[in-house]
Amino acid sequence: MSEGHDHLTALLGRLKLTALRDQLDTLIDEAGRRELTIREALTLFCEREVARRDQRRIEMAFGLARFPFVRDLTGFDFAAQPSLDKGQIREIATGRFIANGEAVLLLGPPGVGKTHLAVALGREAIVAGYSVLFTPATTLVAQLAKAHTEGRLEERLTHYAKPKLLIVDELGYLPFEPDAAHLFFQLVSRRYERGAMLVTSNRAVGEWGTVFGDAVVATAILDRLLHHSHVVTIRGDSYRLREKRRSGLLQRATPVPQPTPV
Ligand code: ADP
Ligand code: MG
Repeated sequence: MSEGHDHLTALLGRLKLTALRDQLDTLIDEAGRRELTIREALTLFCEREVARRDQRRIEMAFGLARFPFVRDLTGFDFAAQPSLDKGQIREIATGRFIANGEAVLLLGPPGVGKTHLAVALGREAIVAGYSVLFTPATTLVAQLAKAHTEGRLEERLTHYAKPKLLIVDELGYLPFEPDAAHLFFQLVSRRYERGAMLVTSNRAVGEWGTVFGDAVVATAILDRLLHHSHVVTIRGDSYRLREKRRSGLLQRATPVPQPTPV
């Protein structure tokens, strides 16, 4: 290895161009083989560095997002969910709702893919450069209640208000404890028109009063969530059960209409 090469490696290290430093020989060979001009070679080098940084940022953001599992939109079988408007999901996936600080509500019975879509949309958001935090509704509320008791509510609210997109999963599976609705309301108000929220629920919006155990607070929450919102309602069968039905383990819940014989 020449002294000039060592010097270059050191300079790249000082500039924190580590991808370039680590792949230097390969990149120089590639530029030579392809007979690139200096400008083209520089472009190639910068592209590699930027690609590594994007990769790092994405990996780090995935870690911070705390998704419960790995899912993406390509892995979602839209044919299995005919009630779902694919165009609407594509539109949401552009991330425009995040830029505008809007809300997305994913509603439907258990097993229809709400959490799958929430994670997949969170993934798209991260790739687009947004910070994301995923939390089950029960955890969120428990954390807020605990912080409230310990006199650290402000700190917790700030924590949950920070990410550009907050995903609250499974709202309504359990009714809220008294006070919880009000804590959730504080969070929703704090994020309102500043940060986007994506909420999944197995309960129709009309039932949220029961979920929150307080019709007044429920109305105040819904007022903010629905103001700039995209509501996605999934009406299909549970995907898990569908898989079981296919393998003959289960009968269909409702009889399939038979064609009239001619
Ligand atoms: P929900 O949150 O609505 O209860 P999930 O998103 O947890 O349902 O879905 C249950 C399981 O079935 C997950 O593993 C999910 O990836 C899968 N699943 C659900 N719907 C689909 C679909 N349309 N295409 C592919 N996988 C699906
Ligand atoms: Mg779910």
